[in-house]
Amino acid sequence: MPEIPDLEAIAGFLAPRLAGNPVATVEARVPWLVRTGADALPTLVGHAFTGIRRHGKFLLFATDDARLLVVNPMLTGRFHWAAPAERRRPLTGLVLAFADGHELRYSDQRRMGRWYLVPIEALATIPQMAELGPDALALDEETFLARLRRHPGQIKSILTNQKVLAGIGNAYSDEILWAAGLHPHRRRATMSVDELRRLYHAMRETLDWARPILAQEVAERLYQENNEWRAHLRVHRRAGQPCPRCGHEIAGQTRGGSETNYCLHCQPLAL
Ligand SMILES: [Zn+2]
Repeated sequence: MPEIPDLEAIAGFLAPRLAGNPVATVEARVPWLVRTGADALPTLVGHAFTGIRRHGKFLLFATDDARLLVVNPMLTGRFHWAAPAERRRPLTGLVLAFADGHELRYSDQRRMGRWYLVPIEALATIPQMAELGPDALALDEETFLARLRRHPGQIKSILTNQKVLAGIGNAYSDEILWAAGLHPHRRRATMSVDELRRLYHAMRETLDWARPILAQEVAERLYQENNEWRAHLRVHRRAGQPCPRCGHEIAGQTRGGSETNYCLHCQPLAL
């Protein structure tokens, strides 16, 4: 699932390529991926995107006629910046072709991603958008502490709850908790203020560490089949490998199809 570093990098890659480069054609091969505004998709033709920003796990493409194309790629939504001659992936669901000849293709193996085309003022009508917490990159330390204080449960569930703070998912929550030395199943109610402050700084440092790595990956690979950029991660999906900090074996647990990884030596489950 794309998270903050992935989506920041994609936005950074696409913004200069889409500026002043109007949409030439729109092809919705899987029209129901567009939950709102599917009928209006052809009216994007002739309009350019003037900016792209990210909020949580959503990408927002602003058009030059005051609309927003909003994309939530969910688990398996992937972008591909392609020359038209390149073979399309079988699961390509939407294709925007641009005046310069490039195509922005969106594929989605599980077809769970959601697109919306709405007037700017209707942003809050997009499901989940209105209840999204503040973005993790925009959150200051005291606000972070105040928001977490309302939730006593397991810290990984809180970090990945988009209503508490937006943009962190399964992969980066593992990385952040490893950096903070906190077990993912620790209850927030058992944590000291110092531990929560450590968690905040680990979150900022982990995201700041990952963003340039992802920017580089995306710059090289949004032209190619882009699956997931996970090779740089230190604990997530590394069960059985040595912890890069202490050498103990990384543990892994799968629940509901998503994996949680941690080092029990660096992240003891103290109560
Ligand atoms: Zn360790």
